[in-house]
Amino acid sequence: MKKTLLLSSAARRLKNITQLLNWRETKNILSIDYELKELRIPEKSSIVVLSPHPDDDIFGVGGLIGSLSKKMCSIHIVYLCSGESGTVSGASDTNLSETRKKEAIAALVLLHGDTTIEFLNQPDGSLQVSAKIIEKLSSIFKNHKPDYIIAPWFGDNHEDHQTTFQIMRKSLLGISPDKILLYEVWTPLIPNRYIVIDDYIDAKIMAINEHTSQLSSRNYIDAIIGLNAYRAGMIGEGKYAECFIELTTKQFDTLCALY
Ligand SMILES: [Zn+2]
Repeated sequence: MKKTLLLSSAARRLKNITQLLNWRETKNILSIDYELKELRIPEKSSIVVLSPHPDDDIFGVGGLIGSLSKKMCSIHIVYLCSGESGTVSGASDTNLSETRKKEAIAALVLLHGDTTIEFLNQPDGSLQVSAKIIEKLSSIFKNHKPDYIIAPWFGDNHEDHQTTFQIMRKSLLGISPDKILLYEVWTPLIPNRYIVIDDYIDAKIMAINEHTSQLSSRNYIDAIIGLNAYRAGMIGEGKYAECFIELTTKQFDTLCALY
């Protein structure tokens, strides 16, 4: 049993490394302008954020969400799973999903009081690409007509995060957002956009602290804020930053055709 787990973990890591190497190749094929630049989302943009679990939005884009409150952007957050498997043992706890929904709402209020949210209640830990979920997400995209769709990047090392990317990809038929913005949680990405979040770091820390049920299993404050500090340090601006891959719909389509 242990051996199988080890092999599966190693295979997963290898898959991610391969994806990363492919990504380097892909940058050349797509001729993406890969200079690292400050992210600039226009005022009053319509934005849909896909969050696999009820804390990934805060971990990956909490500072960005805070900054958008000043830009009068409308933000709709879609939680694919409700987090019932977010226990120390990983066992499912049906009561936990209700707790985590409340935590997600409390966290968001600290960063951007005007967000709207939606829980799709898919199985936590075994999220699947299905016709039903694709239809649901397509209809959300059609209703909100997002200028930006924000989602986990394709190499993020958690099955539900990679599946969220695949669901998003398959739900885009007939939808043309201006940009797709991919964020990092479990695995750092190779960024082409960043935003300094010094003005929102206190609110982001408070928002992470709202996810009380999750903080006993891992020190997410040090992990996520540490990542944000590393990003700012390497960019050479501010003290904390969030990093992204930003793609036009055309670049995204070309990228997806390669995988
Ligand atoms: Zn997650």
